[in-house]
Amino acid sequence: MKIGVLALQGAFREHIEALKKCKVEAIEIKKSSQLDDIDGLIIPGGESTTIGLLMQQFNLGDKILEKANHGMPILGTCAGMVMLAKDIVDSEQFRLGLMDIIVRRNAFGRQRESFERSLNISALGDEPFKAIFIRAPYIEATSPNVEVLCKLDNEKIIFVKQGNCLAASFHPELTEDIRVHQYFVRLVNKTI
Ligand code: GLN
Repeated sequence: MKIGVLALQGAFREHIEALKKCKVEAIEIKKSSQLDDIDGLIIPGGESTTIGLLMQQFNLGDKILEKANHGMPILGTCAGMVMLAKDIVDSEQFRLGLMDIIVRRNAFGRQRESFERSLNISALGDEPFKAIFIRAPYIEATSPNVEVLCKLDNEKIIFVKQGNCLAASFHPELTEDIRVHQYFVRLVNKTI
């Protein structure tokens, strides 16, 4: 199994390291031909407008959509979640639109640009997950076909799954805890 990490901009190196800790082969994806080679894709955090522009510039968007529609699993974290959304509040920016979610960018406001929270995520087991949020989006609404895996303060949706797509508001690659990556590897392996 080989998992690609979109390496146009943002926190891609940390995802590669996390995948290696999961004992999975991980490669940086910079051009569309490399997508032929992978079983799953991670879209990292960064700046979603920039990632979107570069994705279009390098002709990656259409190819990612084609592969996703043929079942390739995708994990989007933070800006990556924004890229997966069908709707982005107050924005016309490019997105893949693979998930039936409405996201709000930079949703936690200026006072809380970056913070850490311990989350209970039953899909990852009993141990709380220390999640790092950096100018994070959250999900304002989902369609019924979207599985909500975690809400912050029982209110803001921050971790979801829909078919072959998984999206998190936070940065799982910035902690030592590899359970989100392991969960994604199981999705790629078709064991969840
Ligand atoms: N605020 C960024 C955006 O909406 C996401 C920030 C991040 O990925 N850490 O693009």
